[in-house]
Amino acid sequence: MPIVCIDAGHSYSTPGKRSPDGMNEYAFNKAAALAAKKILLKKGVTVLTPHRDDFDVPLSARTDLANDGRADLYVSIHANAFGGSIWNGVQGIETYIHPLHSTEEKKLAQNIHQHLLKSTQRPDRGIKTADFHVLRETKMPSVLVECGFMTNRQEKQLLASEDYRKVCGEAIAGGVLAFLGVSESLYVVQAGAFSKRENADQQVAALKKAGFEAMIKSN
Ligand SMILES: [Zn+2]
Repeated sequence: MPIVCIDAGHSYSTPGKRSPDGMNEYAFNKAAALAAKKILLKKGVTVLTPHRDDFDVPLSARTDLANDGRADLYVSIHANAFGGSIWNGVQGIETYIHPLHSTEEKKLAQNIHQHLLKSTQRPDRGIKTADFHVLRETKMPSVLVECGFMTNRQEKQLLASEDYRKVCGEAIAGGVLAFLGVSESLYVVQAGAFSKRENADQQVAALKKAGFEAMIKSN
């Protein structure tokens, strides 16, 4: 089964990294990471989490954990800030990949970015490139997501809410699962159960004639 590294950026103790009214970025990052982890675990994915509440794990230790743990992909979760610690109008979601990214890394970014946009309905700031440590030093496809601006009053309200944190985490998990080719949910409609094969064949023929896709599963 796949191994995914879900990294909540920073820690409670990291200087700065707060909204103008004091919301800690890590509180968002951690909650979104946990929501993503829950979904991935349910789907049988192994999840590595290199962050800690009590200290800011050095970036090299974070990427070492992913590399040594042979993670298949890496997602670093953040909330954005613009212009220091002053409220302003800059808003939206952006996803980063390394300038020397692989095709797979781009594909991972597209999957996660689209899931985030669809779930949050926030403005699209695009997929960007940056030479961040966590993107450069990871041996697997890696992305860094910025799920909204702590320096925008409206987005800060969202980032501070349990609901938005869960929405972001679940969207990230959805993007990861889409990239891995694991279906997020599967709903099966059954149109009959027969003890005789010929009756099942007849039902399938009738369904197909009526325009439905149909198949026989025996158990
Ligand atoms: Zn950050």
